[in-house]
Amino acid sequence: MSPGSEVAKSPYTDFERPPGFVYRAAKSAQRDSDNVLHCEDLPLPKLAERYGTPLYVYSTSAIRARLGAFEKAFRNFRHAICYSVKANSNLSILRLLAREGCGFDVVSGGELERVLAAERRAAKKTVFSGVGKTREEITAALKAGILIFNVESESELGALEECAARLRKMARVALRVNPDVAADTHPYIATGLHKHKFGVPIDRACTLYAKAAAAKYLKVAGVSVHIGSQITDPAPFGEAMARVADLVKALRSDGHTIDYVDTGGGLGISYQEAENDFETYVENYARAVTQPLRDLNVQLLLEPGRAIVGPAGVLLTSVLYRKQNDSKRFLIVDAAMNDLIRPALYGAYHKIVPVVQLGSRKTDGNSVKREMVDVVGPVCESGDFFARDRELTEVKEGDLLAILDAGAYGMALASNYNTRPRPAELLVSRKSVKVIRRRESVQQLLGNERV
Ligand SMILES: *Cc1c(COP(=O)(O)O)cnc(C)c1O
Repeated sequence: MSPGSEVAKSPYTDFERPPGFVYRAAKSAQRDSDNVLHCEDLPLPKLAERYGTPLYVYSTSAIRARLGAFEKAFRNFRHAICYSVKANSNLSILRLLAREGCGFDVVSGGELERVLAAERRAAKKTVFSGVGKTREEITAALKAGILIFNVESESELGALEECAARLRKMARVALRVNPDVAADTHPYIATGLHKHKFGVPIDRACTLYAKAAAAKYLKVAGVSVHIGSQITDPAPFGEAMARVADLVKALRSDGHTIDYVDTGGGLGISYQEAENDFETYVENYARAVTQPLRDLNVQLLLEPGRAIVGPAGVLLTSVLYRKQNDSKRFLIVDAAMNDLIRPALYGAYHKIVPVVQLGSRKTDGNSVKREMVDVVGPVCESGDFFARDRELTEVKEGDLLAILDAGAYGMALASNYNTRPRPAELLVSRKSVKVIRRRESVQQLLGNERV
């Protein structure tokens, strides 16, 4: 793959996600003045040509830089980053993060298997969360020797005790407490209120800790919280940690050893426009989280997911058809809600940009044409859209669009609805690219079925 490009001063700041995705003047473009979106050193049109669309493309350096921002922000506090596997669970991404020293947060036996397949030694830095762990999953995690179980109910505590006793293995336990803190996010991804199914009410926690401490094969070791996802204001994190700090003090005075505070994940990203300074943003988050805990001498377990991988990935798609129904103009693209469900599920906003910007389209001397469109997929649901009434630069049939910030909860939530094979995934590192998941075939989809 020849990169054949140079860094150009870009007028497209809002459309870029450096260091992963930036526009560059590409020699390979039809006209000198074209600016082409690159993933690191590779032009996206080349990747689309070679691997087809729809296509997920991730940037190694973006993932590393984002992880680095967390490490830097928490450098003065004992901590481990336990990347939340559910945000993007591709094995190569897990391996990349493990090599950078990450642990993991898993919410199923399947995710645990992924961690073990990516890096066996990461088990000892892995935490197991989730409201419905089965005994099989608990047993697998005990055998793997994970760091700690985030237990979410009294019944689960009983199940964990039973499994641990059968294996004669100690299980380290944190209770996931529900701090009853409201966070400004979509109702489906808020988790920190008493009305939500998650955790145990913080005022019931002491009783459950006493129960755990009395069990022979359970070892009380921490407290955990997770108040929701896509939260961009640091204040609710601080509030939750203040309540956790009080609980830690109460538990210690009851005689429990609390070594760990698991702060959950949930730090949001900027879907609407470019982030201006991610490092400062994470520093502010770190200050809110650590301030209430500073005198407690605990190790923090951080579980970021979206903030690490979200802006590090795009979903590349081709415009199949343009279509006008009365006053509505549609761009029908080859990606659909099965590939990226966030707009359909949460009404989520993703920025959509043409992969080749202008230059060539300015040949008639006019300025670039903008138009109001709905960007929709081929699936038979009106919810199958990526944007509604969005003003975009005019594009032609066959042109490529990049749906930005698709690295988290994109492929992880993809399905085979409409018998659509899921996209391939690529991981780019400077001038090299690796297919980290092959495109599915219809044959594979039919493989488990019998007639
Ligand atoms: C989903 C989840 C996370 C990660 O959330 P992000 O918003 O992706 O950072 C972390 N911890 C738990 C327990 C979760 O359920």
